[in-house]
Amino acid sequence: MILANTAVKRKAVFLDRDGTIIHHIPYLSNPDQLRLLPNTADSLKKIRNAGFLAILVTNQSGIARGYLTKEMLQLIHERLNNLLKEEKTRLDAIFYCQHHPDDNCYCRKPKPGMLLMAAEEYNIDLKKSYIIGDDPKDVEAGSLAGCNTVLISKDANLLLPVSPSFLAERLSSATEWLLAHAKSSLQELQEREGVSPTGIR
Ligand SMILES: [Zn+2]
Repeated sequence: MILANTAVKRKAVFLDRDGTIIHHIPYLSNPDQLRLLPNTADSLKKIRNAGFLAILVTNQSGIARGYLTKEMLQLIHERLNNLLKEEKTRLDAIFYCQHHPDDNCYCRKPKPGMLLMAAEEYNIDLKKSYIIGDDPKDVEAGSLAGCNTVLISKDANLLLPVSPSFLAERLSSATEWLLAHAKSSLQELQEREGVSPTGIR
């Protein structure tokens, strides 16, 4: 049965941090500066209710640049987790890259390393997964990992190295699109495999 097979692997929505789920403050280095964007909690609930893991993937070169310590980043992410808990939702995991762009590491977006590590650790089917971010680097990383990609931007005429699967103005519309896309992809798969939604033909 195809359904038994697909149930083995999980699916994820990878989320960028700054400008996607929290207000963008360059090199945010104090937990008190952190503010959730208005639709973050609601979108996370919808994403997780639909069976996706919600996984944060964030470039934090501020560590390599000496703007903040790993301990401070830990406190910032604790505050993020606490704010989400107050809203009765959560992230399933947080991955960050602490390296400098010159380090040429494997994890800094636009490289797909964080997504590949998450896929390994959580047994994720990347083709059924999505990345949402406000930077073309997010789209590139997602595309290299084989995910569907959503760019949050209010500029429809952006010139991009890699086109996103969808361009959304904000996280709420990105979430609506991906939930509809995931649903229609599943239906297509079931039709191809000859399994009707009720399992009877
Ligand atoms: Zn890195």
